[in-house]
Amino acid sequence: MPNLKNSKHEVYLMNVIGIIILLTLLGEFILNTIADMLNLSRLQKQIPEPFKDIYDGEQYRKSQDYLRVNTRFSWISSGVDLALLLIFWFAGGFSLLDNWVRSFDQGPIFTGLMFIAILAALKAVISIPFSVYDIFVIEQRFGFNKTTLGTFVMDQIKGLLIAIIMGVPLIYAILWFFEYAGDIAWLYCWIAVTVYSLFIHYVAPNWIMPLFNKFEVLGDGLLKDAIFDYAESIKFPLENVYVMDGSRRSSKSNAFFTGFGKNRRIVLFDTLISRHTIEELVSVLAHEMGHYKKKHIFKSMILGILQSGIMFYLLSIFISYERLFNAFYIENVSTYAGLVFFGMLYASMAFFLNLITLGISRKNEYEADQFAIKTTLFRDPMVAALKKLSVNNFSNLVPHPFYVFLHYSHPPVLERIKAIDKMT
Ligand SMILES: [Zn+2]
Repeated sequence: MPNLKNSKHEVYLMNVIGIIILLTLLGEFILNTIADMLNLSRLQKQIPEPFKDIYDGEQYRKSQDYLRVNTRFSWISSGVDLALLLIFWFAGGFSLLDNWVRSFDQGPIFTGLMFIAILAALKAVISIPFSVYDIFVIEQRFGFNKTTLGTFVMDQIKGLLIAIIMGVPLIYAILWFFEYAGDIAWLYCWIAVTVYSLFIHYVAPNWIMPLFNKFEVLGDGLLKDAIFDYAESIKFPLENVYVMDGSRRSSKSNAFFTGFGKNRRIVLFDTLISRHTIEELVSVLAHEMGHYKKKHIFKSMILGILQSGIMFYLLSIFISYERLFNAFYIENVSTYAGLVFFGMLYASMAFFLNLITLGISRKNEYEADQFAIKTTLFRDPMVAALKKLSVNNFSNLVPHPFYVFLHYSHPPVLERIKAIDKMT
């Protein structure tokens, strides 16, 4: 049984902090479910005009089935997630765990690492069966899956090791600052986390990503010449273009930009190269370089850093706020539990911040499209590339605007094509 009494011996079930967190969790779940239902209600048999030349009725129906199956699956997985969290919370799980890690008497930091590691491990264990079902049942059924069981198991092990190697020092530092650095601990944390994440971002292309995929420098040939000619024409400092064996896990295709400074690179999936013409591929890369030229990457990094500053400042206010602990039936105030519970309180604010970030990102996508077309003059290949990508990945062509508002970092493909058509 949870401890239902606070220090003044008033009987209570929940305080105002607990109610805010509970309402956020339930509210988000309900909003997502409504958005999902609106999304499904828009599905129609008719193929949208611009796609009539590349979709046949059978394939289009299959893409809609894919959306239905994925939506239902997300209801089950997020429902189970939420239910388990609420059971753990109201059955006094946090307090049981806190008492247990305290019983080892290892000081605030080691105790805190244990508390956080056990919660993270529980979350990871719950998510594994859902990933297995997603990859080996859903993706398999729709012909996307290329992941073998061996690759999946290795991915889990590598992911765990990286989480430990990268996560433990970071959490250690945050706990240490809040334990010993006094009022400006939040400032030290902000600086430490910023430097650390810039470092990870810088080394990831060399140290982390190759653990999961093979990256090869794009070989000499027409494609390489076309890409480098284009980069030169817009004065983009391009060192290398890499090809990634995306086909190792999925037949879906993509291209992305990673690292910065000397480690900046553009990566194309092998699955993308095999399906697109040279002009289409240059269009896709021109779009990616457009994000760089328009300073989208730099601006979103600055925005992220500012957000983390605000978060750490708020954390410093709430980390020893007794009601935050009472909301989870814990009597002893501690830095580590404060960190976890603040994370749950912050989720409600993060939800709104995320909507703003998504809005900015969708706007940036239009700008990158425009940049690509103005500098390549490949209007038709750009549209062709967008269409092929959507068909190959079974993207939803007609998402509901409310669903887009909640979840989409890119505008729906039909709107991107419409915006491109409007360009003069
Ligand atoms: Zn983009």
